[in-house]
Amino acid sequence: MSNQFISLFNAGTHRNILLPDFGAGSVAVQANQHLIIHGNEGMILDPGGHKVYSRVLAATSQQLQGAKLKYLFFSHQDPDIVAAANGWLMTTDAEGYISSLWTRFVPHFGIDHLVIDRLKPIPDEGMVLMLGGAKLIILPAHFLHSPGNFHVYDPTSRILYSGDLGASIGADYDEVTDFDAHLKHMEGFHRRYMSANVAMRRWAAAARKLDIEMIAPQHGALFRGRAMVERFIAWAEALPCGVDLFTDPIVIPE
Ligand code: FE
Repeated sequence: MSNQFISLFNAGTHRNILLPDFGAGSVAVQANQHLIIHGNEGMILDPGGHKVYSRVLAATSQQLQGAKLKYLFFSHQDPDIVAAANGWLMTTDAEGYISSLWTRFVPHFGIDHLVIDRLKPIPDEGMVLMLGGAKLIILPAHFLHSPGNFHVYDPTSRILYSGDLGASIGADYDEVTDFDAHLKHMEGFHRRYMSANVAMRRWAAAARKLDIEMIAPQHGALFRGRAMVERFIAWAEALPCGVDLFTDPIVIPE
Protein backbone atom coordinates (compact mmCIF):
# COMPACT_ATOMS: atom_id res chain seq x y z
CA MET A 1 0.00 0.00 0.00
CA SER A 2 1.10 3.51 -0.68
CA ASN A 3 1.71 5.92 2.13
CA GLN A 4 -0.58 8.74 1.05
CA PHE A 5 -4.09 10.06 1.48
CA ILE A 6 -6.91 8.39 -0.38
CA SER A 7 -10.12 10.36 -0.80
CA LEU A 8 -13.03 7.93 -0.46
CA PHE A 9 -15.76 10.55 -0.77
CA ASN A 10 -15.72 14.28 -1.30
CA ALA A 11 -18.84 16.40 -1.54
CA GLY A 12 -17.30 19.71 -0.52
CA THR A 13 -18.58 20.03 3.02
CA HIS A 14 -18.31 16.27 3.60
CA ARG A 15 -15.06 14.38 3.12
CA ASN A 16 -14.01 10.81 3.91
CA ILE A 17 -10.27 10.24 3.85
CA LEU A 18 -8.21 7.09 4.26
CA LEU A 19 -4.71 7.37 5.72
CA PRO A 20 -3.32 3.94 4.78
CA ASP A 21 -0.31 2.20 6.16
CA PHE A 22 1.33 4.75 8.41
CA GLY A 23 3.00 1.81 10.12
CA ALA A 24 4.65 0.54 6.91
CA GLY A 25 7.89 -1.32 7.43
CA SER A 26 7.04 -2.24 11.01
CA VAL A 27 6.37 -5.74 12.38
CA ALA A 28 3.05 -4.37 13.66
CA VAL A 29 -0.03 -5.34 11.69
CA GLN A 30 -0.86 -2.96 8.83
CA ALA A 31 -3.66 -0.60 9.89
CA ASN A 32 -5.85 1.97 8.16
CA GLN A 33 -6.81 5.21 9.82
CA HIS A 34 -9.97 6.88 8.59
CA LEU A 35 -11.14 10.49 8.85
CA ILE A 36 -14.66 11.82 8.39
CA ILE A 37 -14.93 15.59 8.12
CA HIS A 38 -18.22 17.46 7.89
CA GLY A 39 -18.17 21.24 7.86
CA ASN A 40 -15.92 22.38 10.65
CA GLU A 41 -15.83 19.10 12.60
CA GLY A 42 -13.93 15.86 12.17
CA MET A 43 -13.81 12.32 13.53
CA ILE A 44 -10.85 9.95 13.42
CA LEU A 45 -11.62 6.24 13.52
CA ASP A 46 -9.37 3.70 15.22
CA PRO A 47 -6.41 6.12 15.39
CA GLY A 48 -3.82 3.44 16.17
CA GLY A 49 -0.94 3.00 18.57
CA HIS A 50 2.23 4.81 19.57
CA LYS A 51 4.25 3.82 16.49
CA VAL A 52 2.00 5.79 14.17
CA TYR A 53 0.67 8.42 16.57
CA SER A 54 2.81 11.42 15.59
CA ARG A 55 2.45 10.81 11.85
CA VAL A 56 -1.29 10.21 12.04
CA LEU A 57 -1.74 13.31 14.20
CA ALA A 58 0.21 15.44 11.69
CA ALA A 59 -1.71 14.00 8.74
CA THR A 60 -5.01 14.51 10.54
CA SER A 61 -4.25 18.16 11.33
CA GLN A 62 -3.35 18.73 7.69
CA GLN A 63 -6.50 17.06 6.35
CA LEU A 64 -8.79 18.85 8.83
CA GLN A 65 -7.92 22.11 7.05
CA GLY A 66 -8.88 24.15 10.08
CA ALA A 67 -11.83 21.99 11.15
CA LYS A 68 -11.81 20.84 14.74
CA LEU A 69 -11.32 17.19 15.71
CA LYS A 70 -14.55 16.49 17.60
CA TYR A 71 -14.50 12.70 18.02
CA LEU A 72 -12.06 9.83 18.44
CA PHE A 73 -13.90 6.61 17.64
CA PHE A 74 -12.57 3.31 18.98
CA SER A 75 -14.29 0.27 17.44
CA HIS A 76 -13.01 -1.90 20.30
CA GLN A 77 -10.23 -2.17 22.89
CA ASP A 78 -7.31 -3.67 20.96
CA PRO A 79 -3.88 -2.00 21.24
CA ASP A 80 -3.68 -1.16 17.51
CA ILE A 81 -6.73 1.02 18.16
CA VAL A 82 -6.52 2.52 21.64
CA ALA A 83 -2.84 2.44 22.66
CA ALA A 84 -2.31 6.12 21.80
CA ALA A 85 -5.64 7.29 23.23
CA ASN A 86 -3.93 9.41 25.88
CA GLY A 87 -1.90 11.31 23.28
CA TRP A 88 -5.01 12.08 21.25
CA LEU A 89 -6.96 13.22 24.31
CA MET A 90 -4.07 15.36 25.58
CA THR A 91 -3.31 17.12 22.26
CA THR A 92 -6.88 17.68 21.06
CA ASP A 93 -10.20 18.64 22.64
CA ALA A 94 -11.89 15.61 21.08
CA GLU A 95 -14.17 13.22 22.92
CA GLY A 96 -13.30 9.53 22.67
CA TYR A 97 -16.11 7.00 22.22
CA ILE A 98 -15.73 3.31 23.01
CA SER A 99 -18.03 0.49 24.15
CA SER A 100 -19.13 0.86 27.77
CA LEU A 101 -17.53 -2.56 28.31
CA TRP A 102 -14.07 -1.02 27.81
CA THR A 103 -14.12 2.44 29.38
CA ARG A 104 -12.65 1.09 32.61
CA PHE A 105 -9.95 -0.96 30.85
CA VAL A 106 -8.57 1.63 28.43
CA PRO A 107 -7.22 3.81 31.31
CA HIS A 108 -4.61 1.06 31.84
CA PHE A 109 -2.96 2.35 28.65
CA GLY A 110 -2.16 5.44 30.73
CA ILE A 111 -4.96 7.96 30.36
CA ASP A 112 -4.21 11.15 32.27
CA HIS A 113 -6.77 12.05 34.94
CA LEU A 114 -7.13 15.48 33.31
CA VAL A 115 -8.69 13.97 30.19
CA ILE A 116 -10.33 10.78 31.47
CA ASP A 117 -13.79 12.38 31.52
CA ARG A 118 -13.56 12.87 27.75
CA LEU A 119 -13.57 9.09 27.23
CA LYS A 120 -17.29 8.36 26.73
CA PRO A 121 -19.15 5.04 26.82
CA ILE A 122 -21.17 3.75 23.87
CA PRO A 123 -24.18 1.79 25.17
CA ASP A 124 -24.64 -1.78 23.93
CA GLU A 125 -27.49 -0.76 21.63
CA GLY A 126 -25.38 1.83 19.78
CA MET A 127 -26.14 5.51 19.27
CA VAL A 128 -26.14 8.43 16.87
CA LEU A 129 -23.37 11.03 16.89
CA MET A 130 -23.74 14.38 15.13
CA LEU A 131 -20.68 15.64 13.27
CA GLY A 132 -20.95 19.25 12.09
CA GLY A 133 -24.69 18.66 11.53
CA ALA A 134 -24.25 15.29 9.77
CA LYS A 135 -25.57 12.11 11.34
CA LEU A 136 -23.26 9.16 12.03
CA ILE A 137 -24.72 5.83 13.14
CA ILE A 138 -22.71 3.89 15.72
CA LEU A 139 -23.83 0.36 14.82
CA PRO A 140 -23.51 -2.58 17.23
CA ALA A 141 -21.20 -5.33 15.90
CA HIS A 142 -20.63 -7.20 19.14
CA PHE A 143 -18.43 -10.31 19.12
CA LEU A 144 -16.98 -9.31 15.72
CA HIS A 145 -14.56 -9.81 17.23
CA SER A 146 -14.68 -8.00 20.58
CA PRO A 147 -17.60 -8.51 23.01
CA GLY A 148 -18.07 -4.72 22.97
CA ASN A 149 -17.61 -3.78 19.32
CA PHE A 150 -19.05 -1.05 17.06
CA HIS A 151 -19.00 0.01 13.43
CA VAL A 152 -19.65 3.50 12.06
CA TYR A 153 -22.13 3.98 9.24
CA ASP A 154 -21.95 7.33 7.49
CA PRO A 155 -25.25 7.91 5.62
CA THR A 156 -23.80 10.87 3.67
CA SER A 157 -21.01 8.90 1.96
CA ARG A 158 -22.78 5.53 2.44
CA ILE A 159 -19.55 4.10 3.85
CA LEU A 160 -19.66 1.46 6.57
CA TYR A 161 -16.48 1.47 8.66
CA SER A 162 -16.23 -2.12 9.81
CA GLY A 163 -13.17 -2.24 12.07
CA ASP A 164 -11.73 -5.76 12.15
CA LEU A 165 -14.65 -7.23 10.18
CA GLY A 166 -13.51 -7.48 6.57
CA ALA A 167 -9.89 -7.07 7.57
CA SER A 168 -7.29 -8.61 5.28
CA ILE A 169 -3.65 -9.35 5.86
CA GLY A 170 -0.93 -9.34 3.22
CA ALA A 171 -2.89 -8.00 0.24
CA ASP A 172 -0.79 -5.41 -1.63
CA TYR A 173 -3.75 -3.39 -2.97
CA ASP A 174 -6.09 -0.80 -1.43
CA GLU A 175 -9.30 -2.05 -3.00
CA VAL A 176 -10.70 -5.52 -3.61
CA THR A 177 -11.33 -6.19 -7.31
CA ASP A 178 -11.41 -10.00 -7.29
CA PHE A 179 -13.36 -11.23 -4.28
CA ASP A 180 -12.49 -14.91 -4.72
CA ALA A 181 -8.79 -14.17 -5.02
CA HIS A 182 -9.04 -11.93 -1.95
CA LEU A 183 -10.46 -14.65 0.30
CA LYS A 184 -7.05 -16.11 1.12
CA HIS A 185 -6.16 -12.81 2.84
CA MET A 186 -9.31 -12.85 5.00
CA GLU A 187 -10.32 -16.41 5.77
CA GLY A 188 -7.79 -17.42 8.42
CA PHE A 189 -8.22 -14.17 10.34
CA HIS A 190 -12.02 -14.29 10.35
CA ARG A 191 -12.24 -17.98 11.26
CA ARG A 192 -10.00 -17.52 14.29
CA TYR A 193 -10.79 -14.00 15.51
CA MET A 194 -14.53 -13.65 14.86
CA SER A 195 -16.53 -15.19 17.70
CA ALA A 196 -19.35 -17.15 16.09
CA ASN A 197 -21.48 -17.36 12.98
CA VAL A 198 -24.55 -16.23 14.94
CA ALA A 199 -22.83 -12.85 15.46
CA MET A 200 -22.07 -12.69 11.73
CA ARG A 201 -25.70 -13.40 10.84
CA ARG A 202 -27.05 -10.74 13.21
CA TRP A 203 -24.64 -8.23 11.72
CA ALA A 204 -25.49 -9.20 8.13
CA ALA A 205 -29.21 -8.69 8.80
CA ALA A 206 -28.50 -5.20 10.19
CA ALA A 207 -26.06 -4.31 7.39
CA ARG A 208 -28.70 -5.18 4.76
CA LYS A 209 -31.00 -2.53 6.26
CA LEU A 210 -28.41 0.13 5.44
CA ASP A 211 -27.67 1.67 2.06
CA ILE A 212 -23.97 0.76 1.79
CA GLU A 213 -21.75 1.85 -1.09
CA MET A 214 -18.47 0.85 0.54
CA ILE A 215 -17.19 -1.28 3.42
CA ALA A 216 -13.93 0.07 4.82
CA PRO A 217 -12.14 -2.18 7.34
CA GLN A 218 -9.32 -1.19 9.70
CA HIS A 219 -6.79 -3.56 8.10
CA GLY A 220 -6.17 -4.17 4.41
CA ALA A 221 -8.28 -3.53 1.34
CA LEU A 222 -11.77 -2.01 1.11
CA PHE A 223 -14.92 -3.20 -0.71
CA ARG A 224 -16.43 -0.69 -3.15
CA GLY A 225 -19.78 -0.84 -4.96
CA ARG A 226 -23.10 -2.55 -4.16
CA ALA A 227 -22.16 -5.87 -5.76
CA MET A 228 -18.86 -6.17 -3.87
CA VAL A 229 -20.51 -5.05 -0.60
CA GLU A 230 -23.17 -7.74 -0.98
CA ARG A 231 -20.55 -10.38 -1.77
CA PHE A 232 -18.78 -9.54 1.46
CA ILE A 233 -21.99 -9.56 3.53
CA ALA A 234 -23.08 -12.91 2.06
CA TRP A 235 -19.63 -14.41 2.70
CA ALA A 236 -19.56 -13.22 6.32
CA GLU A 237 -23.12 -14.41 6.92
CA ALA A 238 -22.24 -17.95 5.82
CA LEU A 239 -18.85 -18.24 7.51
CA PRO A 240 -18.41 -20.70 10.38
CA CYS A 241 -15.99 -19.06 12.79
CA GLY A 242 -14.80 -18.82 16.36
CA VAL A 243 -16.61 -21.17 18.73
CA ASP A 244 -18.36 -22.85 15.77
CA LEU A 245 -15.00 -24.43 14.97
CA PHE A 246 -13.88 -25.14 18.55
CA THR A 247 -15.44 -28.56 18.86
CA ASP A 248 -12.41 -30.76 19.48
CA PRO A 249 -11.45 -31.39 23.11
CA ILE A 250 -8.46 -29.49 24.46
CA VAL A 251 -5.28 -31.50 24.37
CA ILE A 252 -3.27 -30.76 27.52
CA PRO A 253 0.17 -29.49 26.44
CA GLU A 254 3.03 -31.65 27.62
FE1 FE B 1 -9.05 -6.26 17.02
